[in-house]
Amino acid sequence: MCAGHSLPNVRRYSSLAMTYIVTDACVKCKYMDCVEVCPVDCFYEGENFLVIAPDECIDCGVCEPECPVDAIVPDTEDEPDGKWLQVNAEYAKVWPNITVKGTAPADAAQFERETGKFEKYFSTKPGKGS
Ligand code: SF4
Ligand code: SF4
Repeated sequence: MCAGHSLPNVRRYSSLAMTYIVTDACVKCKYMDCVEVCPVDCFYEGENFLVIAPDECIDCGVCEPECPVDAIVPDTEDEPDGKWLQVNAEYAKVWPNITVKGTAPADAAQFERETGKFEKYFSTKPGKGS
């Protein structure tokens, strides 16, 4: 019998292979430079945020330098409680896949340097995908 099935979610997420994750800076920016370089198309689109599917990401790191606001980091740079890994894993399951760069929101620039955006603005609604 596999004892792993009874482990809580936090343990299950932290036992996944290495992945990159999208963090707070992406909220309301969504420039989408990242999606077109991913070799395995593992970005998923919310209304004002993108996530990476941790179980699809091959940890290549190609997307990290593409993000103009440094929102993409390896999961080793997550918060101690694994917050961003959980957000990415949860919404990658329900939002549509996105592979083509779209148009960033007209007001994206004014939110670039703001912090704590997830708590203030994050929308659980799906984006359009592409
Ligand atoms: S490039 Fe950065 S800010 Fe833009 S959608 Fe990708 S992760 Fe978000
Ligand atoms: S690290 Fe590689 S596989 Fe993972 S999301 Fe970025 S480009 Fe895609």
